[in-house]
Amino acid sequence: MTKKEQLEKLNKQMATCNQCDLRKTCNQVVPGEGSASAEIMFIGEGPGKKEDETGHPFVGAAGKFLDELIASINLKREDIYIANTVKCRPPNNRDPLPKEKEACWPWLEKQLEIIQPKIIIPLGRHSLEIFLPNARISEAHGRAFRKPFPPLKKIVFFPCYHPAAALYNGNLRETLLKDFKKIPRVLKLIEKEKILN
Ligand code: URA
Repeated sequence: MTKKEQLEKLNKQMATCNQCDLRKTCNQVVPGEGSASAEIMFIGEGPGKKEDETGHPFVGAAGKFLDELIASINLKREDIYIANTVKCRPPNNRDPLPKEKEACWPWLEKQLEIIQPKIIIPLGRHSLEIFLPNARISEAHGRAFRKPFPPLKKIVFFPCYHPAAALYNGNLRETLLKDFKKIPRVLKLIEKEKILN
């Protein structure tokens, strides 16, 4: 099976998930989307209202800014993959609970195993917590971390603030644009095996 077919099969399985209560209150599962062979994978927090209505990740206000950030490094959505820590919308957009993130982790783990990205970009602290539990977004954003991570052979994490945070804080907008500018360079360093931390 190709990676694309594997993701399609996984998405069908995800649609029938009942591992936590979020599925009872959301309209639909939002698995994620993009290139099945993406080198860059963005992981947000969880679907919001628009995402729950449409079934697509990051299509609301934060998604518009994410599109702008992606375009600022000359990429398109089709070049990357976007997923979330939980695939079902938490009621009233509340933060996902630790037990919900835990219940949803096997889906994200399988997505990572199939796609095998070179770089994971956790967006915001909820996503960062899954991958680098001791890191703080205020210190870790815009920096590359190499860390053993069992579902993948080699992976670099490059945490960024969540684009929604920039909607309320103009300074974070600039910070995000600046951090994104580093992504192509980080990818080049990964290719040359020059990221050692
Ligand atoms: N915020 C997220 O974290 N994910 C989405 O898909 C949309 C908004």
